[in-house]
Amino acid sequence: MDTQIITKLQTLAESAKYDVSCASSGVDKSNKGGLGNSAACGICHAWSSDGRCISLLKTLMTNDCVYDCAYCINRSSNDIRRESFTAEEVATLTIEFYRRNYIEGLFLSSAIEKNPNYTMEKILKVVQLLRHQHKFFGYIHVKGIPGADPALIRQVGLLVDRMSVNIELPTRESLRLLAPQKNPEKLFDPMRQIKDGILQLKDDRMHFKHAPAFVPAGQSTQMIVGATDDSDKTILETTEKLYKAFDLKRVYFSAYVPVNEGSLLPSIQLAPPKLREHRLYQADFLLRFYKFSASELLGEGEHNFDLAYDPKINWAFKHIEQFPMEINRVSVEELLRIPGIGTTSARRIMRQRKVVTIQYDDLSKMGVVMKRAKYFLTCNGKFYGDKAMSVCGIKTALNPPSPYNQMSLFA
Ligand code: SF4
Repeated sequence: MDTQIITKLQTLAESAKYDVSCASSGVDKSNKGGLGNSAACGICHAWSSDGRCISLLKTLMTNDCVYDCAYCINRSSNDIRRESFTAEEVATLTIEFYRRNYIEGLFLSSAIEKNPNYTMEKILKVVQLLRHQHKFFGYIHVKGIPGADPALIRQVGLLVDRMSVNIELPTRESLRLLAPQKNPEKLFDPMRQIKDGILQLKDDRMHFKHAPAFVPAGQSTQMIVGATDDSDKTILETTEKLYKAFDLKRVYFSAYVPVNEGSLLPSIQLAPPKLREHRLYQADFLLRFYKFSASELLGEGEHNFDLAYDPKINWAFKHIEQFPMEINRVSVEELLRIPGIGTTSARRIMRQRKVVTIQYDDLSKMGVVMKRAKYFLTCNGKFYGDKAMSVCGIKTALNPPSPYNQMSLFA
């Protein structure tokens, strides 16, 4: 392969590693006689050196950005090597890598080259080449560029599986401070357009079986954690609003990696707040699958998650009067609030309860994590925890390891 293209790829793939909104899911599209297919969750993933999950061909179209966002390695004021792919180069790389079995799909992001329309046009050209010329049916996820012409977004949306528009920071104030060239209103325009397009498609599909698909795997976004003083509560409330307003598939969180110096930024020596990112992901799961609201997880006067315990057990500590719950009587919504019971085990318990009374020994077989759950439930009226039902007692029993120590593999 052309060494010039490989050099470009090295630079642009490196620049792309800060974008974490690359996981694929929720698409199951058949191959119509071309290359590849995108069965659900079928895209190849890899783990980058800093522990992030990335798809193998994850690259930027360009890192030659005209914007100057304070937190970003690609900002215009940084003196870094600048590279730009042509659309033909990205399409050829994707096909070459696919044929060599390196990848199953493409995640294409981009800095703003010249202006939003110019950048979006280049991305459109890539997907047109892949879909029409190379007949590539594999998974394609691209970045929607805020400020680009809606007609371009629409054309791209008709060809790709997923789009993401990264809002990066959770409030207007933070955006104004660190990314003053980004207009918060314009950030939401493409999200709204994608949501409306997906709804329209659903409607069309009810009348016309072969209506063209529009962003069938949905849209996602990313927020940086720790670049500003925004609390977990602010981030989680914005997350909740985004899910409601734009029907997002996922909100990704990215622990801020200090790459630039600046009076508005955290110290360059600080380690990325990975555990905080992890707690936000746990809270995000509680919003999406456990019917929690942001205000329940972090209430009045609470700003950040306790790093020592996960958000669900923390919620249980705050509402200890609601426990223990009787496993054979409570509703599925209540089951989901018991620490140690997940969506699958709750479903199994509900199914089993229809035919037989559940015994304590059945619970671990159903996937309940008894180490935690035993303090929060009774089975046929009997409490099995070895500590009294008090927050202190349970905390002592659970004895969480320090968040800053490596957990034992054998604990
Ligand atoms: S627009 Fe994107 S690539 Fe450009 S400086 Fe801002 S965050 Fe970085």
